[in-house]
Amino acid sequence: WAKAAGGDRYEVYDASRHDAQALRSTLATGLRSALHRDDFTLRYQPIVRLTDGVPIGAEALLRWTHPEHGPVAPEIFIDLAEEIGLIGQLGRWVLGRGCQQAASWYRELGERAPFVSVNLSARQLHDVGLAEELLRTLAEVGLPPTRLQVELTESALLGPAQGPADVLQALAAHGVRVAVDDFGTGYSNLAYLRRLPVRELKIAGAFIEGLAPGHPGTPADRQIVASVIALAHGLNLTVTAEGVETLEQAQLLRSMGCDHAQGWWFARPGDPDVLTEMIVGRGGKPVDPVPTH
Ligand code: C2E
Ligand code: MG
Ligand code: MG
Ligand code: MG
Repeated sequence: WAKAAGGDRYEVYDASRHDAQALRSTLATGLRSALHRDDFTLRYQPIVRLTDGVPIGAEALLRWTHPEHGPVAPEIFIDLAEEIGLIGQLGRWVLGRGCQQAASWYRELGERAPFVSVNLSARQLHDVGLAEELLRTLAEVGLPPTRLQVELTESALLGPAQGPADVLQALAAHGVRVAVDDFGTGYSNLAYLRRLPVRELKIAGAFIEGLAPGHPGTPADRQIVASVIALAHGLNLTVTAEGVETLEQAQLLRSMGCDHAQGWWFARPGDPDVLTEMIVGRGGKPVDPVPTH
């Protein structure tokens, strides 16, 4: 610290790096025991149809609270789980739980049940046994494969490897929906859209933010969103807008022909019951009223 005060920043830099290392290993230990204790939860965020505001799906979002450090952002602990080789186990837990919830909605609501959309990390797709295992889980819990969606980011879909493509083909052949997450934020290589069984593009929230009039990103973001919608529809895919926070954004997206939306305007990620109530008609948020001009 004396050195740092004298203008040499290395000590401070080393100290914070050391702290970061220490925190990392604390979290790694915590993650391992959390897996043993089943100490994770899934929150569900409704995905609504923009024409009528009806929830048609739910994204499962993983939550973990470290006993001393409190809630940890999923980006952080999921990256860490990948690095320390736990993502396979953690991913399996998420898929198992997500499928159970989807099956319970299916029993309760029948045709009105939402599909559950589960995020898969790139590493999971490299597990060649994934498709078989997942299809077995679906059969065990009694969930029609069409009620499950998997979300992958562009970078997970880009590689030339045949394994991930085979896994996705096998799942899609049984009716599992495949969506591209955070579309437009990866590398602009679209070749994977030709060879993989994708059926939906999810536009990253970063582009939705600029849709409000007066926002500095507006002209560019509107153009980008319109182009993604056109691209998706041209390829016979559906589009979901992520991160919809205002009625204005929801209305604009609907008028632009966007199919589905999710975001805080409709509902924050929450308990499964919240979504059930939206579907049976006691909650929910209409995209109407339509503007008065
Ligand atoms: P994502 O898959 O793109 O999920 C959307 C993120 O946006 C979620 O953050 C969600 O809570 C947040 N969000 C939803 N609506 C709004 C909104 O209106 N405004 C804003 N600003 N944000 C909104 P969350 O839950 O923190 O998850 C972050 C990321 O962590 C996810 O991004 C996903 O990449 C990853 N993740 C979460 N759960 C899992 C999982 O089970 N497996 C894997 N592999 N990744 C996961
Ligand atoms: Mg996602
Ligand atoms: Mg996303
Ligand atoms: Mg993301």
